[in-house]
Amino acid sequence: MFVVACIKQVPDTTQVQIDPVTNTLVREGIPFIVNPYDTHALEESLRMKEKYGFRAAALSMGPPNAEAALKKALALGVDDAVLLSDRVFGGADTLSTSNVLAAAIRKLAEEDEVGLVFCGKQTIDGDTAQVGPGIAVRLGFSQLTLVDRIEHLDFMEKKIRVRRKLEGRYEIVEARLPAMITVVRELNRPRYPTVPMRLKSANAQVRVWDNGQLKLDVNSIGLKGSPTWVSRIFSPERSKGEVIGDGMNDPVGTARLLVEQLLAKDMLAV
Ligand SMILES: Cc1cc2nc3c(=O)[nH]c(=O)nc-3n(C[C@H](O)[C@H](O)[C@H](O)COP(=O)(O)OP(=O)(O)OC[C@H]3O[C@@H](n4cnc5c(N)ncnc54)[C@H](O)[C@@H]3O)c2cc1C
Repeated sequence: MFVVACIKQVPDTTQVQIDPVTNTLVREGIPFIVNPYDTHALEESLRMKEKYGFRAAALSMGPPNAEAALKKALALGVDDAVLLSDRVFGGADTLSTSNVLAAAIRKLAEEDEVGLVFCGKQTIDGDTAQVGPGIAVRLGFSQLTLVDRIEHLDFMEKKIRVRRKLEGRYEIVEARLPAMITVVRELNRPRYPTVPMRLKSANAQVRVWDNGQLKLDVNSIGLKGSPTWVSRIFSPERSKGEVIGDGMNDPVGTARLLVEQLLAKDMLAV
């Protein structure tokens, strides 16, 4: 059985620059990292491999340099790493990204059953949180988002029970397998590759699939298959805050006022 982690290579956001003319991301000379939430998705897939003996696979759609992210996954211990890279995949919005990733998971399922797919809750560049659910819908998998704990897993019964971390509360949900799970940071602590693991993975190959293998209709992928487009990217202007209370002379009263305001605006959970 496969347990799949979807990982996206993203620009290190502390260094992101926007081209003022085209409103697109300046990608040249930018260091890339694995999307932080995806490191938790990867970690969970590795734990599943260790606990249940499943085959762990990492998938990424992106340009050829996204191979670096998959090499890291191999160094951490995944059995298969697949890069989905083709010019026709370029310019993809979340819908066509989900189409490609779902098709790749379907193709993996020709080799072995896919029981679980892990995604990050969102990326730190696109931030839409749409791709995970998009994959689940296309594959007909149960979708469990914002998971911070796997409570119970029964592959014989094909059942999973998880805890979802919502704003100000938790939710325990049971679902049928196969399932797609998006994870939050609290789920686990990602491991680092050891030197022996790096050496062991040095010769492991990242498989590269293009659309020749996936055979998707070119109207459903890349720019052609993307009904959304970016018309403008900008940082919202900061509005000035309101000064409440007199912190210098009455810190306790000011703190109380602040908490009351945050509660009134539903920005604080009790
Ligand atoms: C018109 C248009 C054109 C675009 N063109 C490009 C482009 O040319 N190049 C480009 O890089 N981006 C492009 N984007 C952005 C791209 O659509 C998104 O980055 C992508 O669809 C993922 O969305 P997200 O980052 O919001 O991911 P989210 O939905 O926030 O991601 C959730 C999770 O899904 C998984 N995931 C998401 N994307 C991938 C991926 N690619 N591979 C593996 N797992 C993934 C990860 O586990 C991630 O944590 C374009 C967007 C639009 C609207």
